[in-house]
Amino acid sequence: MISSRGSLFSAVLSPMDPNTAPENNLDLKWRQVLPPGAGLERRGNSSSVRVVLQCLTHIAPLANYMLSEEHSRTCQQSGVCMMCVLGKHTISAFKHSGQIIQPVGVTSLLSRLFPDFKPGLPESSIGFYKAVVEALHQSDLNGRKRNGQTTEDSLVKQIFEGTVQHALTCPACGELHLVFTPFRELIVGTEAPGNVTRDLTWYMMVEQLGFTLQFNCRRCKRSGHSHYKTTFLHLPNVLVINAKPRDEEVTAKTVKPMRYPEDLDMRPFMSQPSAKTEMYQLYGVTVLENYKKDRSHSYCYVKGSDEQWYIMDDDKVSLSNRRSALEQKASLLFYVRSS
Ligand SMILES: [Zn+2]
Ligand SMILES: [Zn+2]
Repeated sequence: MISSRGSLFSAVLSPMDPNTAPENNLDLKWRQVLPPGAGLERRGNSSSVRVVLQCLTHIAPLANYMLSEEHSRTCQQSGVCMMCVLGKHTISAFKHSGQIIQPVGVTSLLSRLFPDFKPGLPESSIGFYKAVVEALHQSDLNGRKRNGQTTEDSLVKQIFEGTVQHALTCPACGELHLVFTPFRELIVGTEAPGNVTRDLTWYMMVEQLGFTLQFNCRRCKRSGHSHYKTTFLHLPNVLVINAKPRDEEVTAKTVKPMRYPEDLDMRPFMSQPSAKTEMYQLYGVTVLENYKKDRSHSYCYVKGSDEQWYIMDDDKVSLSNRRSALEQKASLLFYVRSS
């Protein structure tokens, strides 16, 4: 019914029934305090892949699940299984803390599943994130179907999926139209100097920015474009923010310096006034920098289970601090629900 101009969300799947938003019983906090994961051996120009892998390895709800081996102990999939591959990598990363490992399983699997994927490009961090999460989702669904389990509360849905609501009113008859779209990453196009909280506020006020949606009114049967209001019906447990410049290709030059909080309050952006708080805490930041004229390099900051910030740059892992983590030319931000 509705198509978007200047959509702000990377939609996945088809518009869903908001009532199917999954309940979850994940551990959002670390079940154990672990040293930081291993450094990842530098191979080719794929630092943009390694940083996402490091962030995913240090996201508590996903890491807790992978370290529990809940999936891999019972997995009977005959083909490649991303859940098993990432699980094995996560276990190896923490087992070899202080050392260097090769994430060969994950990267080789991706090149088989996604032949068009090009790890050397600056935008490949977000491409890799999306590819891994989709591959996890498919593996998890296959396993659940095989075991006769429901697929409504798949791991990826529980961890990464939220639902955005677009609301518009037909200018002719006043009928309210609501469209719900699931998302696994939130794009807040930044303008220099970027500011995540301000950009979120702008997007929630998108009707004032001139974006419109095309619609066909079910009541009066008229069609046209109308301004709309965007809010969140349901937020994911892990909120991934893509600080991509608005309408620009991602390069180290176009990623702008930006401000992003360690604690992010999403309650002002909800569709319904929420009685509960919607607080998120920053656990991962990927950074894109130019290291040669037309080449970029990525490194990342992750907050470990010991609440310390670490900088992870390929095979090097060093203790860092909150201030450094919050002052980067960020391209991806990983927030975990804290309340
Ligand atoms: Zn498996
Ligand atoms: Zn109408």
